[in-house]
Amino acid sequence: MKSYSEALEELRRNGRLRQLTETESGKSHIVRDGMPMLNLSSNDYLGIAQEESLWRAFLEETPPERLLPSAASSRLLTGNHPAYTRLEELLTQLYDRPAALVFNSGYHANSGILPAIADNRTLILADKLIHASLIDGLHLGHAPYIRYRHNDYQHLEALLREKAHNFDTVIIATESIFSMDGDICDLPRLIALKREFPNVMLYVDEAHAIGVRGQHGLGLCEEYDCIANIDMLVVTFGKAIASVGAALLCNRDIKEWLVNTMRPFIFTTALPPINVEWTYYVLSHLDAMNDKRRYLAAIAQRVNDAITRCKGETGSRSHIVPYIIGDAAEAQAEAVRMQRLGFYLMPVRPPTVPAGTSRLRISLHAACHNADIERLIAALTQRDEV
Ligand SMILES: *Cc1c(COP(=O)(O)O)cnc(C)c1O
Repeated sequence: MKSYSEALEELRRNGRLRQLTETESGKSHIVRDGMPMLNLSSNDYLGIAQEESLWRAFLEETPPERLLPSAASSRLLTGNHPAYTRLEELLTQLYDRPAALVFNSGYHANSGILPAIADNRTLILADKLIHASLIDGLHLGHAPYIRYRHNDYQHLEALLREKAHNFDTVIIATESIFSMDGDICDLPRLIALKREFPNVMLYVDEAHAIGVRGQHGLGLCEEYDCIANIDMLVVTFGKAIASVGAALLCNRDIKEWLVNTMRPFIFTTALPPINVEWTYYVLSHLDAMNDKRRYLAAIAQRVNDAITRCKGETGSRSHIVPYIIGDAAEAQAEAVRMQRLGFYLMPVRPPTVPAGTSRLRISLHAACHNADIERLIAALTQRDEV
C-alpha cells in the first residue's frame, strides 16, 4: 500500500474523508461547535436514550449487585451471568420462539451467524442493500452467495428455481426496514416463496424496526404476524432500545450450534451485566410505548407526504425518509444549509448509495416536537421554491 497520508489525501480530495466530530447530545438536539441542532441522524427512534426518568427508575429498581460493570470473560468461561439467561428468557417469551441468544452487538451477530451456520453446501441469497455487517458475514464464511436485486422477488424466485436443488440449504437474508431508503421488505411474500421450497430458511435483520413497529414493538415481523415463520430473526438493542447488544431468535439446535461454533460469540468478553439488565428493563417497558410508536408513525407520514408533494414518491415506508437530491456536491451543500438552519442532517453519497441518488437521510424520532416537524418541512420545501 502507498503511504497512509497519500491515501488519506486522496479521500480528502474526493470528499470521502470520514472524521470523528465531538458531539454533545441532549433529548432531541445535539450541540456542535456551540450550535444546537435538531438531531435527525440518530437511531434513538423512540427518544428514550436521553429519558432521564427511565434510567433513574431502572437504577432505583435494580439491586446494585446486578449492576456489574464488567462480565470479565466470555460467556463460555465464567462470564455467563444470570442476566443473560434472564434476557434470553424474556426474548423467547416476547417473541414466542423456542430459543434466543444474546450477542455483544448487531455487528457481532451479523458477521458471525452466517459463517457459523452456512457451509459450502449452503447457498446464501442476500438482498443487494443489506447492512455492511451482513456483507462481512458473507465474506467471512465459506458458503457461496448471490446478491439479488433490492426487494426484487422475481429475481429472487428465479435464483431459487435455478439453484435451490443444488444445495442442502438456501438462506435468504434481508433487512426488514432498510437503513438508507427507509423502505421495507415484503415479509409475507418472502415467507410464501420460502414455502415453495423444502430447503429454504429466512434470515431477517430487524435493527431499524424493533421498538418501532408492531403492536408490542417487536418489529415488522409482529406487524405482519409472521414471527414464527422467520427461522433466524436478528434484533439489535443499540437503536430504538437505547442500549447495546443484539439477539437472535431461532430454534434450539441453531442456538446450540452457534454457542459451539460462532467465533464472535465465543472469542469475546460478554457484555457488562449492567447493560444487559438495562436492555431487559427497556424491553419489559416496550409494550407501554405505543403512544411513542404512534406519534413517530404520524410525523413520519407528515414528512413523507411533504417530500412526496414537492419531489415525488420517496419510497419510504417508515420513520427513515430519504430526501433525494441527486448530485453528491449538491447534497453536501444542502446538508450544510440545513445544519445552518438548525437541522442536523447528513448527506449520504456514493459509494453508500448509487451515483445520482445522493440524498439527505432524515431519521425521525419520537422526541421531535410537532413544531420541529413544521419547521423541518418548511426548511426543506423552501429550497424547492428557490
Ligand atoms: C446498526 C445496524 C446493525 C449493527 O448493529 P450494532 O448493534 O450497532 O452493531 C446491524 N444491522 C443493521 C441493519 C443495522 O442498521
